[in-house]
Amino acid sequence: MEKIVAPPPDKPWFAEGLRFQCTGCGKCCSGSPGYVFLSEADAYRLAEHLNLPISTFQEQYTYPVDDRISLIDLPESHDCVFLKDHKCSIYEARPSQCRTFPWWIHNLQDPTAWKEAAEHCEGINHPDAPVVPSLVIQTQCLSYLDNLLEQNFSLPR
Ligand code: SF4
Repeated sequence: MEKIVAPPPDKPWFAEGLRFQCTGCGKCCSGSPGYVFLSEADAYRLAEHLNLPISTFQEQYTYPVDDRISLIDLPESHDCVFLKDHKCSIYEARPSQCRTFPWWIHNLQDPTAWKEAAEHCEGINHPDAPVVPSLVIQTQCLSYLDNLLEQNFSLPR
């Protein structure tokens, strides 16, 4: 028998917007192991920002994870290699994965997921943070999803 699937709601649960502003605490870039996956555009943008040939950038700052590449982190602290004095030293050229945080699909699944994300990021639901409109949130989330599709590539050696 054909399964009946409920149509998606007209409005997302965050239709009234969500409160977020980065405080610059640096926690999302340090403290625990994680991946910062790059798209091809991210890799070239970062190489240019650092004034390095793409092959040197790849060798010095990335490592392969299955069929994707991730930025390296520091061996003991797990800090992002670009975190300097608790600040992102490549902020202008930062990868799309960082750029679109916290508007990742799994954080936006439902209010519980959003609350869980807030446990690791003080900017989420911060009382002084502005309410980010739903349209901006959805645009950012689409950008995050697009970026996922662009992470399967290989760089020249
Ligand atoms: S954990 Fe949140 S508030 Fe802290 S630097 Fe990361 S995004 Fe900003």
